[in-house]
Amino acid sequence: MRPQYQALFEPVRIGPVTAPNRFYQVPHASGMTEANPRVRAAFRGVKAEGGWGVVCTGAVSTHPSSDDSPLPFARLWDDNDVRAHAMMCDAVHEHGALAGVELWHGGGAAMNRSSRISPYSPSGMPWAATHVGFMGQLKPRVMDRKDIRDVIRWQVEAAKRARRAGFDIVYVYAGMGYLGYQFLLPETNRRSDEYGGSMANRTRFVRELVEATKDAVGDSCGVALRISLEELRARPSEHYESQAHEVVSLMADVPDLWDVKMDSSPTDCGASRFREEGAHEPVIDFVKRVTSVPVVGVGRFTSPDSMVSQIRRGVLDLIGAARPSIADPFLPNKIREGREDEIRECIGCNICIASWHDGVPIRCTQNATVGEEWRRGWHPEQFQLTSKPESVLIVGGGPAGLEAGLIAARRGHDVSIAEEQEEFGGRLRFEAALPGLTAWGRVRDYRLQALRPMSNVNLYPASRLTADDIIELAPQKVAIATGAAWTKLLYSALEVPGDELVAPGLYTPDDLAVGNWPGQGPVLVYDYDNYYLGGLVAEALAKRGLSVHYATPAGHASAWTIMTNEQPFVHQALYKLGVGLTTLSLLDSFDGNTARLSSLFTGEQQEFPAAALVLVGTRLPKDALYHELVNQADRLEQAGITEVCRIGDARAPGAIAHAVHSGHEFAQTLGVGESVVLRDVPITTEETAAS
Ligand code: ADP
Ligand code: SF4
Repeated sequence: MRPQYQALFEPVRIGPVTAPNRFYQVPHASGMTEANPRVRAAFRGVKAEGGWGVVCTGAVSTHPSSDDSPLPFARLWDDNDVRAHAMMCDAVHEHGALAGVELWHGGGAAMNRSSRISPYSPSGMPWAATHVGFMGQLKPRVMDRKDIRDVIRWQVEAAKRARRAGFDIVYVYAGMGYLGYQFLLPETNRRSDEYGGSMANRTRFVRELVEATKDAVGDSCGVALRISLEELRARPSEHYESQAHEVVSLMADVPDLWDVKMDSSPTDCGASRFREEGAHEPVIDFVKRVTSVPVVGVGRFTSPDSMVSQIRRGVLDLIGAARPSIADPFLPNKIREGREDEIRECIGCNICIASWHDGVPIRCTQNATVGEEWRRGWHPEQFQLTSKPESVLIVGGGPAGLEAGLIAARRGHDVSIAEEQEEFGGRLRFEAALPGLTAWGRVRDYRLQALRPMSNVNLYPASRLTADDIIELAPQKVAIATGAAWTKLLYSALEVPGDELVAPGLYTPDDLAVGNWPGQGPVLVYDYDNYYLGGLVAEALAKRGLSVHYATPAGHASAWTIMTNEQPFVHQALYKLGVGLTTLSLLDSFDGNTARLSSLFTGEQQEFPAAALVLVGTRLPKDALYHELVNQADRLEQAGITEVCRIGDARAPGAIAHAVHSGHEFAQTLGVGESVVLRDVPITTEETAAS
């Protein structure tokens, strides 16, 4: 280990327990609930194996009155839940790490769609969400004193269950719009009793939760307080620098640990496109000066130098991480072993968050093994060596091809990767150069850096292969990873792609990728892909000084980026650059001078002068090479080629995360056949009633 990183491996006391080092996996959603306890245990256990000194759950509901259905959430309501969580604690303890549980009551932000209990809130203020997925039609009740006592009792009972499950750190949650936080803000807390009014009164509920939890767990667990400080830091206080200073001062040494964060998912878990590493610091930098107990916070830290700087400068005691620990569960061990250049750095794309919004177990662009540790037996760092090394030719050096090559090589196969362009990286050659996406280049860089020194790997840039070339090369296995092409198919009123648009001045992202950009405006970007690319192309064109208008059949620009926490910032970016915006519109025609759009719902037409149109619509696989090969079975057999398959976008176009997973799966199953996917089941050894 480099001596300057020694500080990261110092133990830290958290009340009665001691974290073995400063690497702290803060609570983060995993989409894994009691429905898949083994998947969850393996997912968290692998992080402890990789050196994280503390590994926490995501939000764990204390009672059915905190019910986030249909979003996935964990529970600690009964003995079956204790057993399910005990599996995770065992998996974490096996590697000497502490296990933490984020006990959670959502209050008025949990709609209790499943339990049908009227939600709890300080003053009946609803979460007036603007995103339909988070809206609810049941407004919360105003908590009376009995309700307050009940919520505290449920926290205590859940804390005792947590102790039985084996947790070492138990949380009180006062962040992200949930119940504790609702008591802190005057907009949501309009009470006139001892729980409302002054900051001291608004803090009372959270303080009582912390004190009751401490009483419940005694000397066996540390009690952490997780709190959002962004909004409070922006508010003046009579006697303190801000209301954030005031609330932390009022409870300075009440918890055993402060876990400090931002207030909403888009700012707390900001995408790299809009947020730098360490972006929380201006909000949370004061906490350590106010308290004598340790402080943990996050900032998508992947660089050990940034981590050490946080400690040296007195910002944090523990380096919190959610995404960096997902992208590389072995980040701490790599630093400890002086292998920090082998860290698989998080790219900040937030596909992991999108999984939670989708209601499914977590996925990661950089780490294909996430969520597959138990059900497929995939490990992020260890690979089953093959007893029968084969020659494997991968055609296409994009994310799918590079991942397939790297994992096949790590398994001991002889790997060649042929890429027609001079640079490897596939779609990333273009996309990582777009505004804000530099960090996405890590998908390519991590893999190339690992592949280059391997003696069983040959990389062939500037090598476009034909079917004849491949048969002549006669490898035993072939993976076609040639990607996908953007089409000129228009969005039809049936909500599927319709006819192809033919017009002068028409571009697709593939044209821009090879340097063929519109030379003059105005430019219309019509986007029904709805992920990041349409918005980014509009940004990039505007940055080139062209007049740009963005139109989409969706209700927002880059509509799907609501899933990745980027959408508010996409709108801000387009607005700042003066890009016009038309939503809910169909592109009817374009003739090289004028584009005609009509309203999706009313049919009302609008004309836009446009010298160029960039259509960001749908992609289809570039799989001609695959079909050419498999249609020549005799020649393949004569050449000794036993398998030809397509991976990544050449099989089914998707996000980069899909391509990496597809490449990984190909390599893991080489010589093994179909991969076995185990099915996890809930633990239901006892019929129990919720408290
Ligand atoms: P994926 O996301 O599935 O990896 P990409 O489109 O990112 O797909 O990458 C596909 C890569 O395949 C591109 O870099 C492209 O240049 C390369 N490619 C396409 N056809 C050939 C070919 N015939 N021979 C070699 N490389 C190819
Ligand atoms: Fe990081 Fe993206 Fe993986 Fe999330 S999905 S951990 S943001 S690389």
